[in-house]
Amino acid sequence: MSGDLDAMKAAAVHALNYRAGDGERSPVPTAGASELRTAFGIGLPERGRPAAEVIDLLIRAAEPGLTGNTTPNFYAWVMGASHPVGVAADWLTSAWGQNAAIYQCSPAAAVAEEVAAEWLLDLLGLPPESSVGFTTGATMAGFIGLSAARSEVLRRSGWDLERDGIQGAPLIKIFISEEAHSTMFAALRYLGMGHGNLVMIDADEQGRMRVADLERKLAAEEGPRIIISQAGHINSGAFDDFERLTDLARAYDAWLHVDGAFGLWAQAAPDYAHLCRGVERADSWTTDGHKWLQIPYDSGFAIVRDAAAHRRAMDITASYLTHDTDDGRNPTHFGPELSRRARGFAVWAVLQALGREGIRELVTRHCVLAARIAERLGAEPGIEILNDVCLNQLAVSFGHGLPAEQKAQSVQAVAADLAKSGRFFVKTSDWKGHKILRISVISKDTDEQAADNLSEAIIAAWRRVRNEAA
Ligand SMILES: *Cc1c(COP(=O)(O)O)cnc(C)c1O
Repeated sequence: MSGDLDAMKAAAVHALNYRAGDGERSPVPTAGASELRTAFGIGLPERGRPAAEVIDLLIRAAEPGLTGNTTPNFYAWVMGASHPVGVAADWLTSAWGQNAAIYQCSPAAAVAEEVAAEWLLDLLGLPPESSVGFTTGATMAGFIGLSAARSEVLRRSGWDLERDGIQGAPLIKIFISEEAHSTMFAALRYLGMGHGNLVMIDADEQGRMRVADLERKLAAEEGPRIIISQAGHINSGAFDDFERLTDLARAYDAWLHVDGAFGLWAQAAPDYAHLCRGVERADSWTTDGHKWLQIPYDSGFAIVRDAAAHRRAMDITASYLTHDTDDGRNPTHFGPELSRRARGFAVWAVLQALGREGIRELVTRHCVLAARIAERLGAEPGIEILNDVCLNQLAVSFGHGLPAEQKAQSVQAVAADLAKSGRFFVKTSDWKGHKILRISVISKDTDEQAADNLSEAIIAAWRRVRNEAA
């Protein structure tokens, strides 16, 4: 036993040193899959190894293959940096071994979620009567929000989904932008809604839903309706026009869902909240804790105004799961799992550590830095910023004026040049027929200096690429 406890101490000491090196460490993994397979593939022993040795082996096997999203130089995807206070709370969560299934499994876990849920609704400016499910991320949160939507729009059409299932139910018309996040399409698939039955809505040059197209298609379709909108496009950061979307949703008795995995946090920053105007009038929202809020993985939130619909879609009942308690909220009412990690402790802890001001500062700083990078890069001949930088996302193209194929090659060459140094982690993507360098300013320690270093490195890389091509 004491040997096993030594493993916890060794891990803690190592973790402290690891995180103390966040500022200097390369964010790019150095090991490839075959090296990692060799390092991890040490065979399953017949007799267990000593605890401290296991932790030591794990550290040596894993670290070359870790991505540095806890460093300030990580821009590749929208990924948070695991706030140390959240990590500490997560350690305790594991050490306490709590199961957040129902209130009685862990009263503390249930009440931590209940309280953190109230704070989240307040920070996000969402209706206080909404229910909140604590999930693995925005994908599962989207699944939950759309499950509630499906149940409720069918109920309004006289169909009891929980009793009669999806077979034979009225066809639900799903209105979704062609630029919705891929995980929304996945969530729809899990719910039995196939691609061929979706009503696709055109998007504008920033990836926003074209409201006139939505309006036309809403008027042309009959039956129960769900509209899926977005706060924060993954390439442009753009927001749908929630004021007009909520008006339309009301006019057509449609359920409006908002995928706000990171963008919904604009609500917590006064200079950016206008981007979300009207969002609080939607029916369900999804957002992540592990992106902008820097809560350690995994952490997402499914928020539903109609708590009864949320619970109807997700409830698990059994005689041994006593729900007859007045004591507190049962976490399993609001998500698909029964047994799960007590995610609320880390959420509660990070919200306390950041406070309103910390969250405001974090979101504001990242948006200001994105604009700063855009200004620097945009001033360099041949570099083009393809999006209106309204939030923390940049879509950058190189070789302005060249044919599309050469531009795509330039983007790849700049990305490869940047990768060689190992100082920054940036990725390419494809958007609207363009190859782009995609930059997300999202890591909690990214500051002005880090952003300027990135801008300078990108400009230097582009100059090398341009000179080589000349
Ligand atoms: C990241 C993201 C998702 C998926 O979130 P996960 O937490 O990875 O499950 C959904 N929508 C948008 C807009 C995102 O950025």
